[in-house]
Amino acid sequence: MSKSTGEFRFKGRSLAELTALVTATSGETFETLSPLTGAPLARIPLSDDADVVDAIETARDHQPNWAKLAVADRAVRLLRFHDLLLDNQAALLDLICLDSGKTRMDAYTEVVHLTLTARYYAVRGPALLRGRRALALLPVVTRVGVSRVPKGVVGLITPWNYPLTMAICDGLAALLAGNTVVHKPASETVLSALAGVALLRAAGIPAEAWQVVAGPGPRIGPQLVDQTDMICFTGSTETGRTLAAATGAQLKSITAEAGGKNPAIVLADADIQAAADGLARACFDNAGQLCVHIERIYVADAIADQFQSVFVAAVSALKLAPGLGWDAEVGTLISPAQLEKVTEHLADARAKGATVLCGGRARPDLAPWCHEPTVLTGVTREMTCYLDETFGPLVSLYRFGDEDEAVRLANQGEDGLNASIWTRDHARGRRIAARLRAGSVNINDGYEASLSAIDAPMGGMGTSGMGRRQGREGVYRFTEPQAVATQRLIPLAPFGGLDAKGFARFTNGVLRVQRRLRLP
Ligand code: NDP
Repeated sequence: MSKSTGEFRFKGRSLAELTALVTATSGETFETLSPLTGAPLARIPLSDDADVVDAIETARDHQPNWAKLAVADRAVRLLRFHDLLLDNQAALLDLICLDSGKTRMDAYTEVVHLTLTARYYAVRGPALLRGRRALALLPVVTRVGVSRVPKGVVGLITPWNYPLTMAICDGLAALLAGNTVVHKPASETVLSALAGVALLRAAGIPAEAWQVVAGPGPRIGPQLVDQTDMICFTGSTETGRTLAAATGAQLKSITAEAGGKNPAIVLADADIQAAADGLARACFDNAGQLCVHIERIYVADAIADQFQSVFVAAVSALKLAPGLGWDAEVGTLISPAQLEKVTEHLADARAKGATVLCGGRARPDLAPWCHEPTVLTGVTREMTCYLDETFGPLVSLYRFGDEDEAVRLANQGEDGLNASIWTRDHARGRRIAARLRAGSVNINDGYEASLSAIDAPMGGMGTSGMGRRQGREGVYRFTEPQAVATQRLIPLAPFGGLDAKGFARFTNGVLRVQRRLRLP
């Protein structure tokens, strides 16, 4: 590691100064550890219930002022944030690597995702949020406009796996739509989230518009759910269910992006080397701690043996080297809990007869919670990793006979986040994509092609989530559509001496004319 945590500074702030951005008066703190060494990284101020309520009240008081700004004024600040992300990139990458144990390339990927998101909403957002006219029963007589009203205060609950972009990207759309945000980042990676918030403030986002509270989710989460107008959550399906039940009881909206047991299908006409290289990245980027990464690969019988040897060679060649440098291809898992989960899934599969084709060992010699990229074959339905998400560097290879079988196997389970198809026949790939139950499908790519297309919605079907980030869907979820109808000249009721029967005859005439004109 080229940088000790003691000397690290972000935009002139020491790590301790960065933590002062948390709204917390309890005087208590909790510790975060660097997965690169297992050593303490920072002490984070612990927010209590009163702090959460305070933060939400402040956000609520400020929200009308923020919403009163023209959308273009809010967009300019997002563009400034975009530029600050580029200008402060090296320091951000160091901090994300120290905080999460991911490789520099994985950290770079998330900075790019956030930069793209900021620019997308800054440039496209004003047009997306512009009001529109709607058709009325009697066009000239009734004028109807539909506008997008902000929800109010958004409670943002974010995960540790992409601790910068998942912390900030959804909130950018919320801000642009005129909401204010109270944010609870994952307890493991509060620092990376705070680095993003420091840049938001430098970009001109008022402190009251985006506040951070910190502490265990089950402890401070209920206040967030109770007092905010909407919850935007990314994390496990289990927590998603808990939050959906709580928001449901209050008829409050929630969007949730949870996990997936994402499949890849390699068809017989695929470019085998390209598929093996692409899937090695798609399985082991971020050490497999990525909601859209691939954990199941179904290969056409005709090429299964060849694919297996090329894929295992590609995975074995990945450089596992936790640290701050650019050369590592796979980093470490984030925590003892993640290592334990991977170890359990692997032990269960081995005990029930699966074969380890490569990897298979923890590597505490490289970092305390590090694990080798691991490929299994012979995985059966009785094994936990058959359909349960591992969220780690573990993938299973299977075979299929025909296309129908591939689709059936890929569609197993209740998740439906992402899928990947490898074929030289792009039209066939798109036909198969339409049969898959997944929020995104990447043809000749694992996940990057759809994830980096910020104009396209991203999210899951089934238990993988509710709602979408990115694209127009990603900003509309933070608004309530409001219809304002202005009535002119005559009422929509018997008028000008018409009795009820006469009014019905008049209305029927209007309906017939509209039908003839094929009006909607
Ligand atoms: P969680 O769902 O527990 O954590 C995600 C976020 O939710 C964190 O900020 C967490 O806070 C918060 N949280 C947890 N419980 C509550 C609650 N009751 N009310 C409000 N907020 C809450 O995920 P884990 O960190 O435990 O990871 C477990 C598994 O979840 C992983 O192995 C993986 O399968 C999946 N996961 C999926 C992600 C994705 O991108 N889809 C991201 C992360 C995890 P705190 O950190 O304080 O616990």
